[in-house]
Amino acid sequence: MAVYHGPRCRQCRREGVKLMLKGERCKSEKCAVERRPFPPGMRMTKRRRSTSEYNTQLREKQKMRRMYGILERQFHNYFKKAAQSTGVTGELLLQMLELRLDNIVYRFGFAPSRSAARLLVLHNHFRVNNKRVNMPSFQVSEGDVVTVRDKSKTLETIHSALKNAKDVPEWLSVDKVQLSGTVVRLPARADIPVTVQEQLVVELYSK
Ligand code: SF4
Repeated sequence: MAVYHGPRCRQCRREGVKLMLKGERCKSEKCAVERRPFPPGMRMTKRRRSTSEYNTQLREKQKMRRMYGILERQFHNYFKKAAQSTGVTGELLLQMLELRLDNIVYRFGFAPSRSAARLLVLHNHFRVNNKRVNMPSFQVSEGDVVTVRDKSKTLETIHSALKNAKDVPEWLSVDKVQLSGTVVRLPARADIPVTVQEQLVVELYSK
């Protein structure tokens, strides 16, 4: 499976926002965006970012794609699927990204970041509705129950992530003792705590 293997902090610096790709480090003073708040490879005073309409849309798309850790082709496929569905394309796109199994594991608090969640899923540590699933892109549905496999219940990564986790969003519920979580309902836009302007992404792909 193709994933980005380069420096993650560089992606945040490129977008000029904290994409929260490294778990606890993102909340600390070591965060690269806070220490060097200018794009990689340039000094703050030397070059200014382009503010053209195209560049603004492109940056918003890259921000969303990088936040969820998805490569271009797969992201474009998500967009095409959202555009063919009934509803507001940008919101449907975000909903599909939120319902990826790696994101759900992260939202439940079983992993400190989406990339850590992706690895845990790949290494077979979860079941969905009692079936083993090791595809990070697996689309979870309303009512699905995600559980940590019995043999993985002692994993330190999961317990330490749960200890530091924020409250789960309202559309999810988690049982920290049984190490399981349920998708109570599908998320509406207001339930998705990401600061992206999805409409700009739709405009970019609609050209
Ligand atoms: Fe981004 Fe986290 Fe690195 Fe900060 S520490 S630059 S939020 S990945």
